[in-house]
Amino acid sequence: MLKRGFTPIEPVVAVEVLALLALIAVPRIAGQTEEAATFSCQRNMIALATAESMYFAEYDCYKAHMPDLAVMLDNAPDLRCPEDAGVGQYNLAGTASDVYEIRCPWDATEHGSIDDGVVGWD
Ligand SMILES: [Zn+2]
Repeated sequence: MLKRGFTPIEPVVAVEVLALLALIAVPRIAGQTEEAATFSCQRNMIALATAESMYFAEYDCYKAHMPDLAVMLDNAPDLRCPEDAGVGQYNLAGTASDVYEIRCPWDATEHGSIDDGVVGWD
């Protein structure tokens, strides 16, 4: 009679194949997560830049505080960099009445910035 079940080597081979697949997949998934966070952060900054432009068209000046932009964009005060929600609001420190600057509070080098409508990323 034929005996059913796994030989001792079969589970070992299965685990090694899974480990190899994980070795290939994990860095790719991690890279996509970083790309998604960067894209989301840049999308937030574009929304804020649009709100600044709309505010300027209406009131002839830009605003340096995100809550002030809620007039044009309801969720402006709630926008955060998805990389780290604890870092606070977007940095509008360079904004004056006639120019605006929006920087990622987590890492402007990584996620970029928008200065007077010019995006700082490729
Ligand atoms: Zn960011």
